[in-house]
Amino acid sequence: MTRRRWIADTWSPESGHPTHTALTGEQAVHLARVLRAEPGQVFDVVANGFLHRAEVSAVSESEVRFTLLEELEADAALPIHLLLAVFKFDHFEWAIEKATELGIARITPILARRTEKHLAFAAEKRIARWRRIALEAAKQSRRTDVPEIAEPTSLAAALKAETAPQRILLSEAEQAVTLASALRGQHADADLALAIGPEGGWTAEEMALFTEHRWTHVTLGPRILRAETAAIAALAIATAQMQQATD
Ligand code: SAH
Repeated sequence: MTRRRWIADTWSPESGHPTHTALTGEQAVHLARVLRAEPGQVFDVVANGFLHRAEVSAVSESEVRFTLLEELEADAALPIHLLLAVFKFDHFEWAIEKATELGIARITPILARRTEKHLAFAAEKRIARWRRIALEAAKQSRRTDVPEIAEPTSLAAALKAETAPQRILLSEAEQAVTLASALRGQHADADLALAIGPEGGWTAEEMALFTEHRWTHVTLGPRILRAETAAIAALAIATAQMQQATD
């Protein structure tokens, strides 16, 4: 049986493996009121990114406290970094949510040439909200970790900083090389970077910059997909390919 997982919002990387944790906010209310949690009951709780079997030690509607009993084996995120050009926020947020469900490790919002100016301007103020969306989607999909949502950045800076050995640009202009064929024969656990353009697509200069940094251009087929559709399709294909390499 898969137990529902609870994720403690307090996160302190420097403290390593904790022995106690607490859930607050909506999760506490839900546990206390709806599930009528009582001391002694056992739940699966993610604390500091580690999944634990945890026993309730105290309950109020603002906080449910736990003693962590044992650490459970966690399922690692897919080693995929999504460089996602900023596009209309409602669609962009949908992409963050779905990419999180599919297991993405990290998303960097890219301020592309064709990212609309007002969106590029407002992106900075949206990060907190994007991180909350990733946290909620991680809980909902029973992930044990929350993907990193990086600060919005320029394409040039992002390409310079990228260290993944496999680097793939999703391009509606490519006709021959498919994503599946580009990934075939690669190591399943090697880091992969995927880049998706904005609604207006990448400019010619941006495409050239990718080539300069030795990114492979690939197609998802002859139709023009919306950026968020391209993101979901690319992640599904990459996941299938990585699982095959593990078998
Ligand atoms: N320039 C396009 C729209 C871009 S679609 C137009 O004609 O209006 C937004 C992004 O989705 C692209 O930059 C690309 O990264 C991705 N994308 C869309 N369709 C794709 C396809 N068939 N193959 C690969 N990537 C695609």
